[in-house]
Amino acid sequence: MRIYLNGKLVDKDKAVISVFDHGLLYGDGVFEGIRSYDSLIFKLEEHIDRLYRSAEAIELNIPMTKADMTKAVIETLKSNGLKDAYIRLVVTRGVGDLGLDPRKCKVPTVFIITDKISLYPKEFYRDGLAIITAKTKRNLTAALNPKIKSLNYLNNILAKIDAIKAGTEEAIMLTYDDYVAECTGDNIFMIFAGTLITPPTDVGALEGITRDAVIGLAKDAGISFEEKMIKIEDLYNADEVFLTGTAAEIIPVTMIDKRRISGGRPGEITRRLMEEFKSITKTSGVKYEL
Ligand code: PMP
Repeated sequence: MRIYLNGKLVDKDKAVISVFDHGLLYGDGVFEGIRSYDSLIFKLEEHIDRLYRSAEAIELNIPMTKADMTKAVIETLKSNGLKDAYIRLVVTRGVGDLGLDPRKCKVPTVFIITDKISLYPKEFYRDGLAIITAKTKRNLTAALNPKIKSLNYLNNILAKIDAIKAGTEEAIMLTYDDYVAECTGDNIFMIFAGTLITPPTDVGALEGITRDAVIGLAKDAGISFEEKMIKIEDLYNADEVFLTGTAAEIIPVTMIDKRRISGGRPGEITRRLMEEFKSITKTSGVKYEL
């Protein structure tokens, strides 16, 4: 496997970074997770834009243009001969000293890993996921805004541990005042009386690229859509619930906190959106030749 590291493609064993890199010491950096489907990179421009927005939010100056970043992603995919891939793009503050001061880090570290995508089991899509509400609350937007896709994922990891302890794959994270924000690695949607509803990202959620794609699909299909603050009880009473994310795509939820949702089966609108989503991954994206 070849990794893009600071302008070069190197073998996996040689793709090493310093223990003084602030990405490692402090989680000081940003990242993206992207997918390619049969040599089409899904929503590449949107992911690269979000990476640069996240970097700007932490005052990290990415030392290459968006066009060069795009080229680097494609080069890495080609050198690994991958048609269907998961792409991890990471930019850290770079090597500094043991203090926090980002000014000591002169050159950001940029690396790109492309790997085979590990898919969730088919049963999750057929039967739906059981999830719980995490004990861990979502970070305050005024403390560490969840819109920034930073390397500092400890808040999500603590909620993921809540999920694992409860024997589930995902957990819903609530804001400090108990509004639904998102899950540990996915956005959340519900359908109530035919309307698709998701919390606004300002509540404390990532501006998911899959989330945006699904909102677009719903609009095209004439499904009414609303962004609104919701409570966990709204999810319990929803007709359908599903999660969205680059790796998961659209995944139905059929149980929350041991309560059955949508009669314990993935709902009709969810299934329709899953189909539509599959079809756009096959027809849109940035093409590359191996
Ligand atoms: N929320 C969080 C916390 C995430 O980490 C992710 C990405 N894994 C998402 C939502 C989904 O975002 P996207 O659709 O852009 O992958």
